Amino acid sequence: MTIDPEEPRELLVRRMTWEADGVLSVELAHPDGKPLAPWTPGSHLDLHVGGQIRQYSLCGDPADATRYRVAVLNEPSSRGGSRHVHTKLRPGQNVTVLGPRNHFALEPAASYVFIAGGIGITPILAQARQAERDGIPYRLIHGGRSRASMAFGGELGALRGGEVSFVPQDEQGHIDLAAALADLPADALVYCCGPAPLLDAVEAVCPAGQLRIERFAAPVVERDGDDTSFEVEFRASGTTVTVGAGTSILDAAESAGVSTQSSCRDGICGTCETRVLAGVPDHRDFLLSDAEKETAGTMMICVSRCSSDRLVLDL
Ligand SMILES: Cc1cc2nc3c(=O)[nH]c(=O)nc-3n(C[C@H](O)[C@H](O)[C@H](O)COP(=O)(O)OP(=O)(O)OC[C@H]3O[C@@H](n4cnc5c(N)ncnc54)[C@H](O)[C@@H]3O)c2cc1C
Repeated sequence: MTIDPEEPRELLVRRMTWEADGVLSVELAHPDGKPLAPWTPGSHLDLHVGGQIRQYSLCGDPADATRYRVAVLNEPSSRGGSRHVHTKLRPGQNVTVLGPRNHFALEPAASYVFIAGGIGITPILAQARQAERDGIPYRLIHGGRSRASMAFGGELGALRGGEVSFVPQDEQGHIDLAAALADLPADALVYCCGPAPLLDAVEAVCPAGQLRIERFAAPVVERDGDDTSFEVEFRASGTTVTVGAGTSILDAAESAGVSTQSSCRDGICGTCETRVLAGVPDHRDFLLSDAEKETAGTMMICVSRCSSDRLVLDL
């Protein structure tokens, strides 16, 4: 039977391993040993943990359908997600999971530069392994606060097809991005995941068309002008609402009893991605590329709004 990644389901925590200071990996398997839904490097799972739904990138082997592996950094000011994983979740327990979903897929290129900061190594590890399997040359640079805080050093060090370097900040300072991206061939792609300052710095020096990034947290954005209200028809539910200036389409849908899925409410996880049947979205998420915003025909209803008077959504 095929597993629908959009259906929440229970998976069994089979093993948990300390990968670095503050980083625990979690191996998940089907409780009855059935094969798991396939995934591609860059994918993440939504985990229901500590009363929250949180995203964790798959960092195991996509060819192994018997288990998923994610790795979770203990976030000191956590509202529940990572703290629950570190203090409550244990092997033998079940956890509710949605996905895999991929908003950070490896696109074909002649070569890759992978840049990871801290826990941002999770999707990058799977992507580098893919490049290695495909025989595509790559360079991978992993920066972190200290060697002890940097997960998967052993696995990265065992990669043979590319050039892997480690930049612990307490020994070497920040990654020299200008040097890393000097002479970037026009047919190369750069994949970057990590804290916001690293992503901002990479964006400042890398040609936008060659850069793919994944954010684990939403950046702060100052917007000019006030939001206005607009009408949204939820076609499948037969409901039409007015979305006021101070509310989101997602909030309005929930208030009207329209069934939705959501998680981050910040435009970074993609859980609430919804098909647009008519109208012009005002995209405010951090996932869709400029090209996708023009052509994808979907929007993230937690943050995006409407540039026309009315939207019709497939909800
Ligand atoms: C696609 C994707 C993939 C990801 N992959 C990984 C991964 O592989 N590994 C990993 O560890 N993480 C990953 N993350 C991040 C992860 O989903 C969680 O955001 C992270 O674990 C923190 O969750 P939390 O509930 O512990 O912390 P939260 O409670 O969400 O806190 C996170 C931050 O928000 C701030 N905060 C706390 N309270 C509030 C509040 N009331 N209002 C606003 N802000 C507040 C805190 O200062 C803290 O810095 C990923 C995220 C995305 C979107």
